[in-house]
Amino acid sequence: MATIEMKNIVKQYGDNAPAVRDVSLEIDDGEFVILVGPSGCGKSTLLRMIVGLEEITSGDMMIGGERVNEKPPRDRNLAMVFQNYALYPHLSVYENIAFPLRLHKGAKEDEIDRKVRDAAETLELTEFLERKPANLSGGQRQRVAMGRAIVRDAQAFLFDEPLSNLDAKLRGQMRTEIARLQRKLGVTTVYVTHDQTEAMTLGDRVALLKKGVLQQVATPRELYEKP
Ligand code: ADP
Ligand code: ADP
Repeated sequence: MATIEMKNIVKQYGDNAPAVRDVSLEIDDGEFVILVGPSGCGKSTLLRMIVGLEEITSGDMMIGGERVNEKPPRDRNLAMVFQNYALYPHLSVYENIAFPLRLHKGAKEDEIDRKVRDAAETLELTEFLERKPANLSGGQRQRVAMGRAIVRDAQAFLFDEPLSNLDAKLRGQMRTEIARLQRKLGVTTVYVTHDQTEAMTLGDRVALLKKGVLQQVATPRELYEKP
């Protein structure tokens, strides 16, 4: 089943030329799809329409078989991992990961503790749980941001250029790490990047956007064979 289904999605900001033009794309349960294209082609806009942070001008956004155009982000059960990680500097790694769980009134402390520790173990962060973000490496911070997504039991992960602030070496390591984790968790993932290497090495399928138009959707292998 398609977890995310976009049908003829259009986004127009004011009187400008449409930023996203008639995009239709089905993303299957557990699939890892990379949205790639040059700066300004509409990747972030598309991602924000999936999460619900941007209004859709026309078309249908379906998540888990349900039309969500009018649903606020909190009712979509998705987890977005942002470029700048958006960690709370004054909170420990533990509290950063626990944060989304504490927003729910009546969340039980032992349940929160179990989820945080499970996520930390998956992400190999157990030994850093008491540290503050300032005392972590870029890659570790990235993993904390992912931990926060994991504990939400989200239907899908959405990444917006999550590695763009890292140096080349770390970017390579984190790329491998994200691919490994996505497979381990088996969660549907949409990942935005302008980096060709990331696009060709990370996902199951690559969706190429140009000036708001979906040009091509193919596996990396298909793209290598007939570029
Ligand atoms: P990308 O993520 O591929 O760099 P964006 O989705 O950020 O592209 O932007 C696509 C187009 O929409 C660009 O022309 C950009 O200037 C425009 N755009 C993005 N956000 C807004 C906004 N809030 N208001 C007006 N125009 C915007
Ligand atoms: P509640 O269900 O009590 O409103 P949530 O755990 O859903 O609380 O979080 C509050 C708001 O923050 C919601 O709009 C939620 O979608 C949003 N939110 C928090 N973290 C993320 C994230 N990583 N990705 C997407 N949305 C998030």
